[in-house]
Amino acid sequence: KSIENRMLKSLENEEFLVYFQPKVDLQTGLATQAEALVRWQTDEGLIIPPDKFIPIFEKKYLISSLDQYVFKKVCAFISRRLDAGLPVNTISVNVSRLQFYNSDFVKTYEDIKNKFRIPDHLLEIEITESIAFDNVTFLEKTVSELKSKGFLISIDDFGTGFSSLSLLKNIPIDVLKIDQSFFRESIHKEKDNIVIKGIIDLVNKLSIRTVAEGIETAEQVAFLKSVNCNMIQGYFFYKPLPEDKFEEILKKEYTTKAPAFTFTLSET
Ligand code: C2E
Ligand code: CA
Ligand code: CA
Repeated sequence: KSIENRMLKSLENEEFLVYFQPKVDLQTGLATQAEALVRWQTDEGLIIPPDKFIPIFEKKYLISSLDQYVFKKVCAFISRRLDAGLPVNTISVNVSRLQFYNSDFVKTYEDIKNKFRIPDHLLEIEITESIAFDNVTFLEKTVSELKSKGFLISIDDFGTGFSSLSLLKNIPIDVLKIDQSFFRESIHKEKDNIVIKGIIDLVNKLSIRTVAEGIETAEQVAFLKSVNCNMIQGYFFYKPLPEDKFEEILKKEYTTKAPAFTFTLSET
């Protein structure tokens, strides 16, 4: 009970921070899109990563409040930039599967988007592929509704669960995020690469964009570029950053015409 009270208090006191991890577009080299990732900043100034508290929020059914808190902060960020005449690109937010099944979920997100007057296609909702297995018909309906309200949809952590190819065929998603487990050290490296290339080829043909997550080396970047992956999110380019640091990057990205990164490795 006391943890629960503390969590509610923390939400009211706005002890949660929203970090932004830029995604680098491999065609343009620009890092103007980002994923919003929550952090808990305690009274003592400690920054606690989400893995430590999200499971507790999920158990206590507070995850919807937390997800919406993050979503509002992202809308406020975009709205502030638009009001100031600054350019802005799509920002993605995570939505817990628990919240996805609330009957008022789409309406709640639509209302917030409208309240902040956010234009279409600047907000992307990340859902984990595990949601798909609960109820495909419901998923299809919810994704279609979200899309009709101007949201982009991505499937997060693709390849961790029992990935369903019919999901790609039947659900009108915009982006597929290939899970970082594909890019960790593995004795099956060659096979991993064959699978990654195959997935990217397949979804490109379905007009679904691809983001590779957890990319830490130049070799991985060169490989992903060679197989036409669209975007990269990983420590090789950027860690999740506080808002002011992210804005510094945006300033740089939007003022320099040259791509932020050039790839010097031979593309194999
Ligand atoms: P996720 O959605 O898969 O987010 C990506 C995680 O991978 C982030 O961890 C990010 O910091 C980390 N990451 C990115 N690039 C690299 C890399 O190159 N190497 C390594 N080792 N890690 C990398 P983070 O921020 O700790 O978030 C962990 C998870 O917590 C997220 O995984 C997501 O499932 C959840 N989460 C974060 N924010 C929210 C939120 O607002 N709502 C909900 N429901 N879940 C959230
Ligand atoms: Ca995510
Ligand atoms: Ca992920």
